[in-house]
Amino acid sequence: MELEIVEQSENYAKFILSDVTPTFANTIRRMILSEVPTMAIDEVIIIENTTPLYDEIVAHRLGLIPLKTDLENFVRPELCSCGGQGCTSCEVSLTLEKSGEQDVEIVFSKDLLSQDPKIVPVYPNIPVLKMAKDQKIFLEAIARLGRGLDHAKWQPISTVSYKYYPCVEFNLNNCTFCGDCVEVCPRDIIKIEDDEIKAVNIINCSLCNQCVEICELDAVNVTTTGKDFIFIIESTGALTVKKTLIKALELLKEKTEEFSTLVEEF
Ligand code: SF4
Ligand code: SF4
Ligand SMILES: [Zn+2]
Repeated sequence: MELEIVEQSENYAKFILSDVTPTFANTIRRMILSEVPTMAIDEVIIIENTTPLYDEIVAHRLGLIPLKTDLENFVRPELCSCGGQGCTSCEVSLTLEKSGEQDVEIVFSKDLLSQDPKIVPVYPNIPVLKMAKDQKIFLEAIARLGRGLDHAKWQPISTVSYKYYPCVEFNLNNCTFCGDCVEVCPRDIIKIEDDEIKAVNIINCSLCNQCVEICELDAVNVTTTGKDFIFIIESTGALTVKKTLIKALELLKEKTEEFSTLVEEF
C-alpha cells in the first residue's frame, strides 16, 4: 500500500491510495461517512419565537450548522457514564437571544453563545433566519456528539469520493495525429506536440472514454489498474481532514479487534 498526497489543507485533501482493493477503499469512505462522530445541535428549546420562521424550521437549520468538535473531551451520550441523561462529557448548551432592531435583522451562527469556547460554529456568518423590527428569537440549543449513521448533520465531511487512477495510452503505429481526441477531451488531458501525442495531468481524467469513442483507428486506450484510487475529502470544518481519517481508521481497527476477540471465543 502506498499513499501520495496531491493537495492538502485543513479542510481539503486529494491523495492517491495505491495497491488496495475497491472494497478497502469503499470501507474507508463508509467509515468516514457513517462512523466518525462530530458535534451538532440535537435538541432546541424555544423560549420565544415571534419571527416568521416556524420553530421546527429554526431547529432544523440550527442542526445543520457545523460545530467545532472536540473528540478528546466528549463522548456520545449512549456511551457516557451518565447513561445518556446529559452531563458535561456528552453535551454542550448554546443560547441564542436576538431582537430585531433594524427593519430587517439577520441572525447568524455567530449569535449562538456556547458554554464551551471550544464548541462553537465553524463559520460565524451562516444565516439562520431573518426577522423584522421588534420580532424576537430566544432559545437554548443542546449540542451532542453523533454519527452520520444516525443523521447527515453529524457527518464530518461534505464530500468523500474516490475514483480509479486512470491510464491513457496511445498506439503510435495507428495514430495519425488528427487531433480529434484532443478536441473532444473535456479535461484537456491529451496534447499533441511535434508529432508526439501524450497524456498530461492524468489525475484529472474523468474516464469518460470520449477519446476512445472518437478515434476510428483504435489508437487510444483508457484503462485503470483496478487497485489505485484518487480520493477527495472535503471536511465541514468540524474536524480537520487528517483527524477525520485518523479517527475513521481507529474505529475500523477497534471493530476488527472486537470481531477478532469474538472469533477467539468461538
Ligand atoms: S483521435 Fe486517434 S488518431 Fe487522432 S490523434 Fe487521437 S489517438 Fe491519434
Ligand atoms: S477518458 Fe475522457 S477525460 Fe480521460 S483522456 Fe479520454 S476524453 Fe479525456
Ligand atoms: Zn453524559
